[in-house]
Formats: sequence, C-alpha cells, structure tokens
Amino acid sequence: MAATVLAGLPGHYRDTPPWLRSRLLKRISEALVHHAPLAVVDYCAKFAADPGFGDYEHLRRFDDVLRKLTADVADGTACPGCGRDPRHPFCAAYIEGGCR
Ligand SMILES: [Zn+2]
Repeated sequence: MAATVLAGLPGHYRDTPPWLRSRLLKRISEALVHHAPLAVVDYCAKFAADPGFGDYEHLRRFDDVLRKLTADVADGTACPGCGRDPRHPFCAAYIEGGCR
C-alpha cells in the first residue's frame, strides 16, 4: 500500500534516491495507520507539490503535510477519507476505491 501511495505523490517524491525512497516508504506506512491513502496523496499534491527543495527536505515536508492533514481532519475542514472538502455528497475514497 505504501508503494501505491508513493506512486501517487508529486514527481519529485517518486524520483528520490534509493536511501530516501526506503525512508519515505517507511514514513508512508506509518502515516497509513492514521490516514486514508487518498487523503495523504491529496494533501501531498496540495502542500508538497513544490519541487524546489532538496532530498533531506522531503521527509520534513511530508511530516508537515501529515500534521496539517491531522489538524484539518480534527477541525472538520478536510474529509478523513479523501482529504478534500468534507461537504461532498459522496466521498471520492469510495468512488475511486481508495478506501481501506
Ligand atoms: Zn471524502
């Protein structure tokens, strides 16, 4: 599952060197304990799409994105299933099969 999520992240996350890739996959696996895969992908696209940062920044940025997702889900501004506006009638997590 972590590999599927990584494949959905912005290009500069997919093209990381092997040492960083394995650490990212580990971090993604940990994130999926608390978050839906689609929400993680959506938030990374929204808040970590800027490719202008170095390899060491990727993990820190990923953590920042997860913190934001956790906070937004907690205060109701993001759907826990897909990370988007929670007022949608049908969650994309179900439509796109991103549901766990
Ligand atoms: Zn949703």
